[in-house]
Amino acid sequence: MAVVTLKKIVKYYDETLAVRGIDLEIADKEFLVLVGPSGCGKTTTLRMIAGLEDISDGEILIGDTVVNDVPPKDRNIAMVFQNYALYPHMSVHQNMSFGLKLKRVERSEIDRRVQEAARILDIESLLDRKPKQLSGGQRQRVAMGRAIVRDPAVFLFDEPLSNLDAKLRVQMRTEIKKIHQKVRTTTVYVTHDQVEAMTLADRVVVMNHGVIEQVDTPQQLYHNPRTKFVAGFIGSPAMNMIPVSLLDSGSGLKLDLGDGVQLQVPAERTAQYRPHAGKARLLLGLRPEHLTDTASLSQAGGAAEGQTFSPIIDVSEPMGMETLVYFQLQGITVCGKASPDVEAPSGKPMQLTAKLQNMHLIDDESGLVL
Ligand code: ATP
Repeated sequence: MAVVTLKKIVKYYDETLAVRGIDLEIADKEFLVLVGPSGCGKTTTLRMIAGLEDISDGEILIGDTVVNDVPPKDRNIAMVFQNYALYPHMSVHQNMSFGLKLKRVERSEIDRRVQEAARILDIESLLDRKPKQLSGGQRQRVAMGRAIVRDPAVFLFDEPLSNLDAKLRVQMRTEIKKIHQKVRTTTVYVTHDQVEAMTLADRVVVMNHGVIEQVDTPQQLYHNPRTKFVAGFIGSPAMNMIPVSLLDSGSGLKLDLGDGVQLQVPAERTAQYRPHAGKARLLLGLRPEHLTDTASLSQAGGAAEGQTFSPIIDVSEPMGMETLVYFQLQGITVCGKASPDVEAPSGKPMQLTAKLQNMHLIDDESGLVL
């Protein structure tokens, strides 16, 4: 059992307030990912859980024990770093068993655990090699093996894949997920890569400027972001955010996107959005996949679902599975996704369908999704 609880955690580095009183409960066996832009406080949070940074205020519990004053070696955690931190003069076996030897675990038990971890990680044939005889991905596995043999209550990962090339990173991501499914150890994982966060996590914590913006499952974060920051951070290409006026015609609501484009708000959203009609600084949040070319939609029988307009396409980017199309609205670049079979020549209009049943209305002043 290893629930990790953070209660009103604050971290100052001299004058810098790096973490601003965060509350978080990480469930037993959960894979939780901390994600956010550089400097948001995710590494500091992880290092406070590990005991590598002092906590300025608040409490951290591992299980039922407050660990604020417990040294890292006694917290029953294992940390995997970006730079692997393997001992170069030791073999893989020695690297993996070193921590257990220090703890005076019996030799037969050490061997059993190293063999078991090597089997899980598929590195049984590498146990006699030195780190310099391994590829980056293999070194990363050894670093994980060293964590697994300790059978800790919690795994802490600090950007473990950022030294690997793009292809290997994707491969190792899948490996890490598989390993967690086998060992089920409570895991806290830090990354700045939102795709890594979404693919690995049971729940993702999005941090920004030392606070938590949202804690949710990947699906919820994507479909129901609660703030402008989360809406813009999760998803690639990013969600379009178009300044709009919300007009109440009595019978329904309209969005005026400028440049002569007006769209009807779906009836089921009218009651929710009506109180915001006439408000300044509203943004329409619409993901590129909800702005698609009408021609291929009507072939698929879906044209009735949305509303159309015909912007002049600036640039199109064929991606294989789809073609990204870019156009301007009020001087803002907007991205849509068209079928790869449709021609999208620059400088020509293209009829697009906006699926407003998937829209978000964002108050740019408060930064909240309404
Ligand atoms: P990155 O992805 O760049 O590592 P991060 O989200 O992990 O970013 P932290 O390393 O936790 O961010 O840093 C949070 C804030 O604390 C930043 O403003 C950073 O400059 C500051 N900070 C981090 N470590 C120290 C330190 N040892 N001394 C002073 N300030 C620090």
